Amino acid sequence: MSEEIRHIVCPHCERINRIPGQRDARKAKCGHCHQPLFTGRPIPASAQSVVTHIQRNDIPVVIDFWAQWCGPCKVMAPVYERVASEFEPDLRFLKVDTEAEPELAARYNIRSIPTLMLFRKGNVVAQQAGAMNAESLRPWLRQHTRAAAAAS
Ligand SMILES: [Zn+2]
Repeated sequence: MSEEIRHIVCPHCERINRIPGQRDARKAKCGHCHQPLFTGRPIPASAQSVVTHIQRNDIPVVIDFWAQWCGPCKVMAPVYERVASEFEPDLRFLKVDTEAEPELAARYNIRSIPTLMLFRKGNVVAQQAGAMNAESLRPWLRQHTRAAAAAS
């Protein structure tokens, strides 16, 4: 497994980086813009960058669909951020502001927020509506990323 290469999309310039499996991706920098590939924080995503992230990352990608006016979203935001720092670099955490990107909310049929969607290789592998605390978010991510890895 030591020759395994993971493709990681840079959160800053959205170019694809190839990271050897044995390398600690948390310390890796983008070969194009030289910024860290993992920042320990969810990345705000646009309609365009979401497509690149979910289709080109070899790691699973989770998206938090939220809005400024949504109380439960604000409650979940610090939880999501904390869990992101724990799960990186095995998962990429994105945030989509549904007010700024309404076409994305429509594309993924988001009916209530917050909604979390988990993707692997461009496919939705899990979806969860409603705010989660860290105690429910961690096992949800572990369960679905493991199940997705076993299936691929
Ligand atoms: Zn970059």
